Amino acid sequence: MNTFMVIKSYGRKAAKANLLAQKRICELEDFISVTKAESDVCRVNESLGNEIVLHDETFFVLDFALKTADESSGVFNPLLYPVIREWGFTTGEYRVPAKPEIERLMGFTDYRKVKLNPEKKSVALEKNMMIDLGAVGKGYAGDCALQVLRQNGIKSAVLDLGGNVQVLGKKTDGSLWKIGVKSPWGEGTAAGLEVEDMAVISSGGYERFFEKDGKRYIHIFDGRTGFPAENELAAVTVVCKTGLLGDSLSTTLFVMGLEEACAFWRNRRDFDMILLTNDRRIFYTEPLSERISLLYPFEAVSVVE
Ligand code: ADP
Ligand code: MG
Repeated sequence: MNTFMVIKSYGRKAAKANLLAQKRICELEDFISVTKAESDVCRVNESLGNEIVLHDETFFVLDFALKTADESSGVFNPLLYPVIREWGFTTGEYRVPAKPEIERLMGFTDYRKVKLNPEKKSVALEKNMMIDLGAVGKGYAGDCALQVLRQNGIKSAVLDLGGNVQVLGKKTDGSLWKIGVKSPWGEGTAAGLEVEDMAVISSGGYERFFEKDGKRYIHIFDGRTGFPAENELAAVTVVCKTGLLGDSLSTTLFVMGLEEACAFWRNRRDFDMILLTNDRRIFYTEPLSERISLLYPFEAVSVVE
């Protein structure tokens, strides 16, 4: 997944369980990578409108991603790949495409046109459409890895998949895990969170970007426009029960920006979040009050209720 991975498990069977969890993550990557030839995602993207049968896991993640697109009115959009590719974010050959070019490619990103068949676990796109599960893959892989650990008798573990942290149970001494929320300003840890059985998933513009003529272009796009997200947010961290939900929401909320993200949370309340702004303010949802410790001299602290 083009990133690092750390698995720490505790117990007699930890070494074997870790190996199996690692294997499971690599297997999923073989299904959902957008660059690995023969992955489910690549087969779909080369299908020229033909129906493609997927592995169960790929179908499940694609179905979830399409539902997230629906729930966010296209802010989250797993069909953006034709556009993201044009900006060079898969090849590393970065460029700023002309606006008419982006508008033309946006014509191939309507997620409502994807046809899923739940019985056959198949998908059919229209010609020129492509999928990309990059915004949810790591979270789902984390869920599957924790499941493997659980099945192998592990009761206490922490997993870090490229900055997506997921914990199983509590620490072996019975205390809560203390997870650091990375500072997007390159100054260590912005906040600490005490959690058990939880996913702590972050998205931010500081992770991957390129600069052209003094302007920064990041790897998270507004699914409605095809342009990199640009608002007052520097980073979003979602705290919730599964990696899949956390990963989908961290990307979505980051694109939404401060106000829309807060409104979205007030409607749902099935997750918690920490929003860090470019002008160094922090916003966090009320249920986190007992779990959070602030480790950075923020300009302002606000609790979202
Ligand atoms: P990361 O994987 O870097 O931690 P994210 O989970 O936010 O960050 O996922 C970013 C990836 O998701 C991008 O590299 C791109 O492949 C894809 N992506 C970018 N913008 C969107 C969007 N609006 N909706 C869905 N996927 C997106
Ligand atoms: Mg994400």
